[in-house]
Amino acid sequence: MKVHIFTYGCQMNENDTEIAKQLLVNDGLEVVQSEDEADVVILNTCAVRKKSEEKIYSHIGKLRKKHKKIGIMGCVAEKEKEDLFKRGVSFVIGTRALNKIPEAVRNSQEGRKQIFLDDTLDEIEYEHVETRASSHHAWVTIIYGCNRFCTYCIVPYTRGREKSRVIDEVLTEVNNLADRGYKEFTFLGQNVDAYGKDLADGTSLAKLLFEASKIENVERLWFLTSYPSDFSLEIPQVMATSDKVAKSIHLPVQHGSNKILKAMNRRYTREEYIELIRNIRQIVPDVSISSDIIVGFPGESEEDFEETVALVEEMQFERLNLAIYSPREGTVAWKYLADDVPYEEKVRRMSFLLNLQKRINKSLNEKYLGKEVEVIVESRAKNGLFYGRDIRNKIISFNSSEGLIGKNVLVRVEKITAGPLYGSIVEEAL
Ligand code: SF4
Repeated sequence: MKVHIFTYGCQMNENDTEIAKQLLVNDGLEVVQSEDEADVVILNTCAVRKKSEEKIYSHIGKLRKKHKKIGIMGCVAEKEKEDLFKRGVSFVIGTRALNKIPEAVRNSQEGRKQIFLDDTLDEIEYEHVETRASSHHAWVTIIYGCNRFCTYCIVPYTRGREKSRVIDEVLTEVNNLADRGYKEFTFLGQNVDAYGKDLADGTSLAKLLFEASKIENVERLWFLTSYPSDFSLEIPQVMATSDKVAKSIHLPVQHGSNKILKAMNRRYTREEYIELIRNIRQIVPDVSISSDIIVGFPGESEEDFEETVALVEEMQFERLNLAIYSPREGTVAWKYLADDVPYEEKVRRMSFLLNLQKRINKSLNEKYLGKEVEVIVESRAKNGLFYGRDIRNKIISFNSSEGLIGKNVLVRVEKITAGPLYGSIVEEAL
């Protein structure tokens, strides 16, 4: 039986897809690249935004017309549960029930509707996952779920409470992958800074970074996504002493006004966030900090927005992901807070911040002009150029060849924009 998995959403979903593929292969099922070839198509879904959920429903409609058996995994599976059967779906797999996928696929041929929501994560043998999307970079989920309950976010309801993987198991996975030629690793978690807290045995993200950086052949370690009040300064301390830990932290602030941060149930103040960034930069002066901001949250006045603008100017983020607030059914904000900022005003605020961030990006990028930076070649872009990132997560485009993917090269930066940098390789295979 041929199975295809289509992935929507975040890096954790990408990693779940890799694991699911391995489970299917272990069970003797064939995983195919195109959905047209497949008997069963599984959509690994995202429910963070309404738009992404709508895309999934339209994808289900198209698959039904092609008479495919359809399986749903990921956040929409947890959010909608049995209701998905009304859309013609054959099986539903919860975010922690991955290892039920082969059974669900096989049974789908008999026309039975099935739903698996139990937590069976402990049964997964992560170190044996060979069905990776990349041959040099590996996603490694280290903590599932989130306990933070930001009022706009659906994740704690779809991914459940925090559950960390045992550190030895993670290190074994990294070791095995490094032996197979993987050199870059990204440790993943919805709140990666909470890693180890539920284990209560001294495990922490800083400890994991320190231990993983001792593994031979590991060249670069990343982690995503951080939460300000769980972030430990031990992390930049490890970063400062190891040239394997990337000097890059994605630390979403979400807003610059204390009133809105409180309404979002973010457990820090603007002042605490600024202080944290100051402390991190003292330990690692050239660290790259990126962030997320939501505009148009309920109750956001012009003054609140101005506070966000001032924060962005002060923080000088290397990258900023902006999102317009839209209520997600099932969240506290959807239930109790009126979506009272007019859409046109949300768009105006968003484009104001976009333009501000473009100016910041350009001025920060100017420091790169003429410099030679070490980059791991990542992939080929649609424009035919190859790209990679340096240790600060700066994306650089250049002419290269397929044979250099996964290799370290030295690139001289010749042109800057508000987005990627452009340059030429001056030395190959460092
Ligand atoms: S920290 Fe907040 S925004 Fe991030 S996953 Fe948890 S609840 Fe959602």
